[in-house]
Amino acid sequence: MRIAKVIVDVPTSQTNHSFDYIVPKTLDKLVQPGMRVSVPFGPRKVMGFVIDIVEQSDLDKLKEIEEILDITPVLTEELLKLGVWLADQTVSFYIQAFQAMLPQVLKAKYKKEIEALTFEELSPSLQQLFDGRSFIDFEEFQERDGNYYQLLKEIRAGHAKIHYKVKSKETKKKVAFIEPNKELYLLEEALVDISNHAKKQKRMIEYFLENPEPIEQKALISKLDTTPHPLNQLVEKGILNKKEKIIYRNPYKGTEFERTNALPLSDQQQNAIQPIWEKVEQEEHQNFLLHGVTGSGKTEVYLQAIEKVLEKGKEAIVLVPEISLTPQMVQRFKGRFGSNVAVLHSALSPGEKFDEWTKIHKKEVKVVVGARSAIFAPFKNIGIIIIDEEHETSYKQDEQPRYHAREVAKYRGQFHQCPVVLGSATPIFESYARAKKGVYHLLEMPSRMNNNQMPPVEIIDMRKELHAGNRTMFSRNLLEEIREKMQSKQQVVLFLNRRGYSTFVMCRECGDVMKCPACDIALTYHKSSHQLKCHYCDYQMPMVSHCPSCSSDTIRYFGTGTQKVEESLKQHIPEANIIRMDVDTTRRKGAHQRILDQFASGKADILLGTQMIAKGLDFENVTLVGVLAIDAMLHLPDFRSSEKTFQLLTQVSGRAGRHKLPGKVIIQTYTPEHYSIQLASDYNFEQFFQQEMQMRKNFHYPPYYFLTLINVSHPNQIKVLEVTKMICKLLYKHLSDQATILGPTPSPIVRINNRYRYQCMVKYKNEPRQREIIQKILKYYYQDIHQNDLTIQVDFEPYQLM
Ligand code: ADP
Ligand code: ZN
Ligand code: ZN
Repeated sequence: MRIAKVIVDVPTSQTNHSFDYIVPKTLDKLVQPGMRVSVPFGPRKVMGFVIDIVEQSDLDKLKEIEEILDITPVLTEELLKLGVWLADQTVSFYIQAFQAMLPQVLKAKYKKEIEALTFEELSPSLQQLFDGRSFIDFEEFQERDGNYYQLLKEIRAGHAKIHYKVKSKETKKKVAFIEPNKELYLLEEALVDISNHAKKQKRMIEYFLENPEPIEQKALISKLDTTPHPLNQLVEKGILNKKEKIIYRNPYKGTEFERTNALPLSDQQQNAIQPIWEKVEQEEHQNFLLHGVTGSGKTEVYLQAIEKVLEKGKEAIVLVPEISLTPQMVQRFKGRFGSNVAVLHSALSPGEKFDEWTKIHKKEVKVVVGARSAIFAPFKNIGIIIIDEEHETSYKQDEQPRYHAREVAKYRGQFHQCPVVLGSATPIFESYARAKKGVYHLLEMPSRMNNNQMPPVEIIDMRKELHAGNRTMFSRNLLEEIREKMQSKQQVVLFLNRRGYSTFVMCRECGDVMKCPACDIALTYHKSSHQLKCHYCDYQMPMVSHCPSCSSDTIRYFGTGTQKVEESLKQHIPEANIIRMDVDTTRRKGAHQRILDQFASGKADILLGTQMIAKGLDFENVTLVGVLAIDAMLHLPDFRSSEKTFQLLTQVSGRAGRHKLPGKVIIQTYTPEHYSIQLASDYNFEQFFQQEMQMRKNFHYPPYYFLTLINVSHPNQIKVLEVTKMICKLLYKHLSDQATILGPTPSPIVRINNRYRYQCMVKYKNEPRQREIIQKILKYYYQDIHQNDLTIQVDFEPYQLM
């Protein structure tokens, strides 16, 4: 007998282990580790992953696997192991880890059906619902206002029964193709046989005599300007054949990628790539940190490293941050490797994502370029893993499993014995410190291609502007420079660290700020709907005309959003052609590309945008970059705020003067003396690193210490406080005395959606038992979590401290 060990889709700490199921005779040869199956679990059917097949079980009275949901395993042996490791590392459930590795459409969908066991005895209302059928969907029962009470009674009386079914959501796109069903000379005979009145049929046969290849039905009909009718008649007569073919949805349909060839490498590129090539050649694992300024040609290094990998018949994974997974970036990989590239990012529809994943699964591509989750690409023979902009926080998933793609990359690099390349102009301190200690192999590319200079940066003190009577959001210098660029037909990029028209509303009379009643956080004014909205929950209300506290009518919105900047800029420079790029203007599919194309073709003078424009963009004609407000970022309640500000300023500056024309950067700020602004304007990463590291050391922050953040939330404040206190106490008792336990403290946002939030932070150097202790704590609170609405979130090496 064969027994399958199955991890079931029931994410609780009590079910977080494998269950034994008998492999029925009918499925004997089919079931393999890594497949999804449907199994009975209590009264339900649930989806599960087979992780192992064994000969014996210690338990008796085993149930059987009901059906298989895959023909071939969706998880490789390596990914199964990785899933287990990942769950342990992040203290999440195995099922969560496995699901995180697969495209969304492979997650199970559950369906309930009601079966009528007898018709005669059913109540009339149910009889009517069933209407002669023996099964109806539970959804239909709900939609047609079926009576639950009645149903329950019928079930108890044995007249009806509920069935649970597991279905895969996966959808394949099928397209009908038409081809001749006979030898060509037989087609000619058929042509003679067909009545002269059937002109359309004749034309169709004539077409195939000249073009015997299969053609998509739709295309054929439009080509011959006809209808499906004559076509179907020919199919019926056996002259033509209709077949369904699965085709891939191609998200880049209609886009031609110009083929590119490897460029002769510069000296610094050559020096950087050599050690990577060696590891590819020797099939050995090594982590590299490629520290190269913006425009130093890191991408070309990635491309040529991959070329070597492909020569060896191996595969490559390239991660780029979601936000910089721009068409420009995709083009560079598609241009070099053509249809050998699959692209995975969140703008794709679930179906498109599934198709791209399928190409990888079926080994139809050898390179995947994608955002965070592409690190789980089901390749079996990986030759290199590259993470571009490795400092980006989007590589860390902010829900369970809270993994960092970099750690997964190192795991897989070790498994496949291949190099892992982390690239950045501003590596995260953890990585740079490791590289300096020799844990990673440090590769430096300090100069831009062709020895282009980094653009000079001018810092403008906005306080002085205010004193000089300039109350606008543009300094006089910036406006002057913009006008100048417009005259010389060059382009400008303006960066604002905010989204939408978002801004808070304050009364000038009494200073009251409009806040969300559930979250205790400032509401945001949305101009288009004239409403105040909370960005943490769904609360919204109409904009007020009078202050609720003092009734004054001096209530106004403050702060700056891209839309407001655009309007204001138009007042100052009416002749300027501005394109705005932010979350609001890029919501539609393809909008991103359209905006960039417009700007690239010179249809606008100024590209105004948020974070989205900070990365990866490369326009020849951009010679001025303006940063409008950096201060909000600098004062976030986060120990990384200086580092993040430095990174962002460096990225934004990197957009200027990348080609023949020299560039310039203007930063507007209310705190010009801050060292991260000063040093970013000098492109002095090294000194910034030294100075900031001193702070990290003094205050026991990473990379000197590791952090673990535990967030507790519950509708009752006393309950949250009590649980958080207990967690702190347990950690204090069981961790070594080297660890510092901070808390319980209220989270920076104390209440979200009527839930109170408290946190506990652990700072430590080495606590091998930490995860085990936390697992025990989670088990201890099992009841509260499952029945009493308590949440405990654990985040190792957190990036979000809110
Ligand atoms: P980074 O990724 O480090 O910001 P890029 O890869 O975008 O830098 O390179 C900057 C510019 O230099 C690009 O326009 C790129 O095409 C060009 N470039 C890179 N390597 C070479 C090379 N070896 N020869 C000529 N041009 C190059
Ligand atoms: Zn007021
Ligand atoms: Zn709210």
